[in-house]
Amino acid sequence: MIKNKNLGLLAAAAILLAACGPAEQPAATQAPAASANIAAPVASVASYAAAVDSQRLINADSEPGSWMAAGRNYWEQRFSPLDQINTENVNQLGLVWSADLDTSRGQEATPVMVDGALYITSAWSMVKAYDAKTGRLLWAYDPEVDRARGVDACCDVVNRGVAVWQGKVFVGALDGRLIALDAKTGQELWSVVTVDQSKPYTITGVPRIVDGKVVIGNAGGEYGVRGYITAYDAATGEQQWRFYTVPGNPADGFEQPELEWAADTWNGEWWAMGAGGTVWDSMAYDPQSHLMYIGVGNGSPWNQELRSPGGGDNLFLTSIVAINPDDGSYVWHYQTTPGETWDYTATQQIVVADLDIGGETRRVVMQAPKNGFFYVLDALTGRLLSAEKFVPVNWATHVDLETGRPVEIPEARYNITGVPMIVQPGPLGGHNWHPMSYSQKTNLVYLPATENNMGYVAQPDMVVSERGWNTGTDFAEGARLVAAAGAAAPVRQAYLLAWDPVAQREVWRAPQLIPTHAAGVVSTAGGLVFQGNGAGEFVAYRDTDGERLWSAITQSSTVAAPSTYMIDGVQYVAVLAGSRALPQTGPGAVGSTTRASSNNSRLLVYALNGTHQLPTQVITAEERALNPPPLIANNEMLAQGEQAYGRFCSVCHGNNAASDGAGVFPDLRYSARLHNLDAWNGVVLRGELASGGMVSFDGQLNQSDTEAILQYVISKAVALAEDLQTR
Ligand code: CA
Repeated sequence: MIKNKNLGLLAAAAILLAACGPAEQPAATQAPAASANIAAPVASVASYAAAVDSQRLINADSEPGSWMAAGRNYWEQRFSPLDQINTENVNQLGLVWSADLDTSRGQEATPVMVDGALYITSAWSMVKAYDAKTGRLLWAYDPEVDRARGVDACCDVVNRGVAVWQGKVFVGALDGRLIALDAKTGQELWSVVTVDQSKPYTITGVPRIVDGKVVIGNAGGEYGVRGYITAYDAATGEQQWRFYTVPGNPADGFEQPELEWAADTWNGEWWAMGAGGTVWDSMAYDPQSHLMYIGVGNGSPWNQELRSPGGGDNLFLTSIVAINPDDGSYVWHYQTTPGETWDYTATQQIVVADLDIGGETRRVVMQAPKNGFFYVLDALTGRLLSAEKFVPVNWATHVDLETGRPVEIPEARYNITGVPMIVQPGPLGGHNWHPMSYSQKTNLVYLPATENNMGYVAQPDMVVSERGWNTGTDFAEGARLVAAAGAAAPVRQAYLLAWDPVAQREVWRAPQLIPTHAAGVVSTAGGLVFQGNGAGEFVAYRDTDGERLWSAITQSSTVAAPSTYMIDGVQYVAVLAGSRALPQTGPGAVGSTTRASSNNSRLLVYALNGTHQLPTQVITAEERALNPPPLIANNEMLAQGEQAYGRFCSVCHGNNAASDGAGVFPDLRYSARLHNLDAWNGVVLRGELASGGMVSFDGQLNQSDTEAILQYVISKAVALAEDLQTR
């Protein structure tokens, strides 16, 4: 479906970057409010007490063994101070236990570990608690969401995890309930309905808890709902306050004073369309300033001429808003995309950190939203400090630091000009919900970045429907626009991006094997960045240069972010595998997972010297997908490759690279690594799949040989693809 023409260039760029070596790093700064008066790391005791409170969460960085909230600390940095697993020994990392999940739907939760229990959510908002060391299931809870609600979820029936507080576990259910469970038994303690269930609201995000108030948002920006967040008493479920992100009908009065001036930035009868602005994922809290930061979503419908004819900024769409968590009152906002009309949500992760800027330590808020700019704001005032493109962007030239506003390219307003335009990024964004990580060790942000575009075609005659997306744009016409623009028009790239938020520049990137795929990230004091991928692998990268140091087969695509914790002196890394997209090619697909098979949704837990094995799966060649890159080698190179292949590879992988392998040895023609020489060399020269029997051929083969073999196998894959097409 999606063709990619730029992988060779990207791989070349990655090699160039790697050759340049790690960039000079700024001096380490201390994490915000890291407490110095806490004693040694707390050894996790399997009391399953879930005894989380304000002080413990504020001091999270002084308790490295625990992972007490989805974002790890209040600043949502997703950095672990643990370093038992590090760049020197990560090659000994192995699975220690795994747990199959109930469904084959998407899995997006970050595992939370405190007091010896590991808590996850899975599809349909189900919750499970395990002994974090042994994997023994402690309890399971199913909120029994009406499966008919699934149609209201834009992007699968996912859930991104729990919050834990004073012996309770909290989950937002897809149908709009907020539910408190007894952490020891999984028994439901209270449940409140947080939305009008007659409307297509859903909840997929993680609750956050500040001073005993559980705060939850909702989703539905594609369906015509009005966004807000609500705080509930963690003990009783009693509502404390609600903050709306967009004004309602002025004739009904305004729920909050700032909505009165926000309404001046709207036109027409926006309230009749709901107008969007849902807070479906990101929130962060800074105890020092006592501010809570929320990320606000896109307008509903996307097409601003339908939503607010004649324009206007449309506050507080696509904004970061700072509020007082005591009463939900407004403090400041920064709008990333005034008059949003491209689905440019600012719901992406908000990270609070102290950065050394111009010789001064500044408390900042960072975000890499869909619109492609990386923002650094003053955390106290919301003033824009810097904004630079972290992916290619064609809707704006830059962000004006004086006004804080993007300088748009007029043609990008397809609904004003009436002329369709291929805009980059598209609605998938330069970065979506997949969590990033700010390393206190390198002071870099590790960001799952994607490059994509879409043809935006206004659909002025849109009729609002109760089912399906109401965007006011014509997707089919947009696709035709891109197709007509030629083979190079669809931009599809994905990579793990190491970003210096002070210098606002790229330090390195590691290409994803599947060029549309993003997955959440964790970084550690061990110098590692962990991330799953769309090819069925879980990978560890070196934090300074992005070199792949280790990988394991997950038998599923992964989109969720990992977490890491320590019990009885052993560091563990936990991740949920399973996503909407199955690995169609790549190491995790060949011989393990197919389009016809289940999604293999699992909780996977790794530690040094782990020996647990996933069950072996066998597939037929017909079930596999074939997606080779274009052939670029000349005959001389192919001859070299044929010779080297015949000598070193054919005994297992078959003559002429044409073995079906009877499901035992991978048919290399289906390998996603055909798209990336460095990934190919990771197996052939660096032995990344040695644990499966594919040892390194370093010493037998040189770089010239491996590239020639790669091109030879590509030639066979291209021939097979042509053959299958003509059958
Ligand atoms: Ca959206």
